[in-house]
Amino acid sequence: MVNSERQVIALISDYADPSEEIDMEEAGGQNIYVREMGESLAALGWQVDIFTRKSHPNDPAIVQHSPHCRTIRLQAGPATFIPRDQLFEYMPEFLDSFQAFQAKNAVRYPLIHTNYWLSGWVGLQLQEQNNVQLIHTYHSLGAVKYDTMASKPAIAETRLALESEILAKADCILATSPQEKETLCDLLSETGRIEVIPCGTTANFHSFPKNEAREKLGWAEQDKILLYVGRFAPRKGIETLVKSCAELKQRKVENLKLVIVGGSSLDRLDGPERNRIEQLVEALELQDQTHFAGRIDHDWLPWYYSAADVCVIPSYYEPFGLVAIEAIACGTPVVASKVGGLRFTIQPEETGLLVPPKDEIALADAIEQVLGDEAWVTKLKKQASSGMNQGFSWQNAALEVSDLYRYILARSIMHDQPWNPKVSRLRTISEMTVTDIAVV
Ligand code: UDP
Repeated sequence: MVNSERQVIALISDYADPSEEIDMEEAGGQNIYVREMGESLAALGWQVDIFTRKSHPNDPAIVQHSPHCRTIRLQAGPATFIPRDQLFEYMPEFLDSFQAFQAKNAVRYPLIHTNYWLSGWVGLQLQEQNNVQLIHTYHSLGAVKYDTMASKPAIAETRLALESEILAKADCILATSPQEKETLCDLLSETGRIEVIPCGTTANFHSFPKNEAREKLGWAEQDKILLYVGRFAPRKGIETLVKSCAELKQRKVENLKLVIVGGSSLDRLDGPERNRIEQLVEALELQDQTHFAGRIDHDWLPWYYSAADVCVIPSYYEPFGLVAIEAIACGTPVVASKVGGLRFTIQPEETGLLVPPKDEIALADAIEQVLGDEAWVTKLKKQASSGMNQGFSWQNAALEVSDLYRYILARSIMHDQPWNPKVSRLRTISEMTVTDIAVV
C-alpha cells in the first residue's frame, strides 16, 4: 500500500527486474543497484515503487520488498524473456501501462529515476507528458560498448541517439564513478548535469578466515585459486582470463585453479558466450584447472571471495563493477582491467592491481605478483576484517541520492534557481527542515 505521509517516487528498470535471481538471463549489477537503492531509499523515508516489465507469465504483478518498497511488473509485450536489444518496440506499451497504473491508483510520481536507456526513453516521454523530474543512470553506454564489439546490433543507432538525448534533457544524470562522468562528457556531451554517486555493497560482504571458507566450499588448502564472478558476456573479457591461465600454466605455477562463478543455463541468452569460453578452456587444455560454479547468490558469495587467492575482473568495459567492491570488502586482492569504474574503486598496490584490458600476459604477470605476495594479502585480510575496506555502502549511496532527489524536487517549484546540488547534499536528512520536507 502507498503510505500518503511519504513522498512517493518511481524507479524504472524495465528490463532488469530487481526481484529476479541474479544471473538469470541478463540479470546482473543493474538488478542489484535498483533493488538496494530502492530499499535503502525506503529506509530513509521515501515510498519507493520500482517498475519493471513482466517477463514471466507466472510472476506476481507486485512484489513487496519491505513495507515501503515494492516492485510493480507492467505489461509490455509478451510476458516472456526478451533480450534487451529487442525490447525497444515494447516501450510505448510500457509507457501506457505506467500511465494506466497511475490513473487506476490515483498516484502521481513527481520524480522518476530511470535505469538504462530503454527506461530512459520512457522517462523522456513522462517528462514531456507529466512534467516529472527525470533522473537517469546509464549502467552501460552504447558508445563504449559498441566499440568493443565486432558487429553492432540493429538497435545501435537508436540507442546512441537516445543516450545523447537523455543527457541533454534529464534533470540530472547519476554517474556511478568519476570515470563514467568523464566518458559521458567525452563521448556524448559536455552540457548535461551529471552528479557522481558511487554504488555500494551490503553488510554481508565481509571477510571469513580463508581456511574456514575453503573447508566450507570443499576447496583444497594448497590450491592457488583465481575467482571470476559475473555474467557471461563478451565485454566481461573471460577469454583474456582463460588465456592468462594458460600462460600461468606454461610458467609452471603449481596448483592453479580457475573458478568461474555466474551464468545461466545453456539454452538462455548467455549460452553462446559460455560455449565459446568452454571451448577455449578445452582448446587450451585447462579442463582440470577450471571449475564452472554456475550462479551463486549473495548469501554465499562472501565465502567464495574469502576462499579465493585473487579475484580477477578482466572486463573490456565496466561503468562501475560491483564485483570489485564486493571482493575488496571480503579482503580479497583484485586484479582488474584498467577501465571505467575499476580505475575508481581499486587502489593500485593497495587493494589490487590494474592492467591493460585484453592483455593476457600483463594479466598473468599481475596475478603472479599477487600470488607471490603473502604479506600484502595478509594486510588486506586484516583491513577487511576491521571494516576498513567497507568504504562503499548502499546506505551512504542512498543518503546522497535522497538528498539529491530532495534538492531536485524543491528546485522544481522554485524557478530560476542556479543548479547547485552540493549545497543541499552537504546537509544530512536529519538537518532538513519541516519546510524542506513540505516542499518535497
Ligand atoms: N552476481 C551474483 N551471482 C553470480 C554472478 C554475479 O550475485 O553468480 C552478482 C555480483 O555479485 C554483482 C553483480 O552480479 O553484485 C554483477 O555486477 P557488476 O557491476 O560487477 O556487473 P554487471 O552485471 O553490472 O555488468
